[in-house]
Amino acid sequence: MTIHTPVEANERVYPTPKVPAVAICLDGCEPEYLDVAIAKGLMPNLKRMREEGTDRLAHSVIPSFTNPNNLSIATGRPPIVHGICGNYLIDPDTGEEVMMNDVRFLRAPTIFSQFYDAGFRVAMVTAKDKLRALLGAGLKFDEDRAVAFSSERSGETTKADHGIDNASEWLGMEVPEVYSAELSEFVFAAGVKLLKEFKPDVMYLSTTDYIQHKFAPEQQGALDFYAMFDRYLGELDALGAAIVVTADHGMKPKHHADGTPNVIYAQDLLDVWLGKDEARVILPITDPYVVHHGALGSFATAYLPEEADRAKVMEKLRAQKGITHVLTKEEAIERFELPGDRIGDIVMVSGENICIGTSEHRHDLAALKEPLRSHGGLTEQEVPFIVNRKVDLPSNPAELRNFDAFFYATTAAAL
Ligand SMILES: [Zn+2]
Repeated sequence: MTIHTPVEANERVYPTPKVPAVAICLDGCEPEYLDVAIAKGLMPNLKRMREEGTDRLAHSVIPSFTNPNNLSIATGRPPIVHGICGNYLIDPDTGEEVMMNDVRFLRAPTIFSQFYDAGFRVAMVTAKDKLRALLGAGLKFDEDRAVAFSSERSGETTKADHGIDNASEWLGMEVPEVYSAELSEFVFAAGVKLLKEFKPDVMYLSTTDYIQHKFAPEQQGALDFYAMFDRYLGELDALGAAIVVTADHGMKPKHHADGTPNVIYAQDLLDVWLGKDEARVILPITDPYVVHHGALGSFATAYLPEEADRAKVMEKLRAQKGITHVLTKEEAIERFELPGDRIGDIVMVSGENICIGTSEHRHDLAALKEPLRSHGGLTEQEVPFIVNRKVDLPSNPAELRNFDAFFYATTAAAL
């Protein structure tokens, strides 16, 4: 089927790709990882892409967490439009703390589902299964035009629900451990094979940041990871795809010199100021996979008791060393484009080398095997944005967003 109508998704119009339009979200890819690996000669393909294509930096959405940014990339819009502003929230309908990875929380169609409905072929591979349902929302698998699965559950995929039976067997790679570099390698390998065999018009590959939480850019674990990625990137490029490489967020060390985590425990502070459990601090980084970050990041929101003096609480929080921003809900909606019904009365952001926790006793820091590296704040907002073709892109990172990835991938693919 030849399709010529441009596809519209969430009030943006996407050019019709002539070659596969591929966006790759390298989870937690602080730009320094690429600079260091390239300087060491480990990424010849990306180095060439930077020289011959388009090399920029972009801004992620805030909070600089995985799900809000993956859904922004998938919808082309900020969280105020798609509704996913973290992994975890207080459900305004029930008042309960729940995971936000259910499709019922998603308020906008994905670019993939809009392309699918227009008759295109669509593929999407994620590392963790928590993202697959959200990113795969609206796709149908009965016409052999869509594939959507995670490496984590690649041994259980079916044609009816994922567009492919047993993806692990199809790829010839074992189902990887959830805490491993292989979980992301599986994504790249599947992307190459899908490009060769399934021939999608639009494809999204999204990895996990296990390695980035664990290793700094110059450490061997990180260097090996980016060298591995570069080999697959070379294959994707050689297959003629138009590729955008970006990230959901950066990654910064957030520990003391002795390796212990540098944390402000916001719930403990509010308990002292307002009474125990009067306020509720929510850390939207919270998810079942806490081994690599201990549920500690640089963004938190808090629900305050009605009688609390919000301005006074905010002033006291601002006086805490390491807290860089304290915003009212209204300011956070305006500045960070967040859905107001899914954040608390105030929003806090911490600095480059410090994170925000709830109560000290609620964080299992013994699970952290390495000095804490994490994200969530404005200091992890700058991410790579590299296209393997020449495209006219803003050079100011604040004007280019990671969620423009599919707009520019399809633009490059339509050239
Ligand atoms: Zn992430």
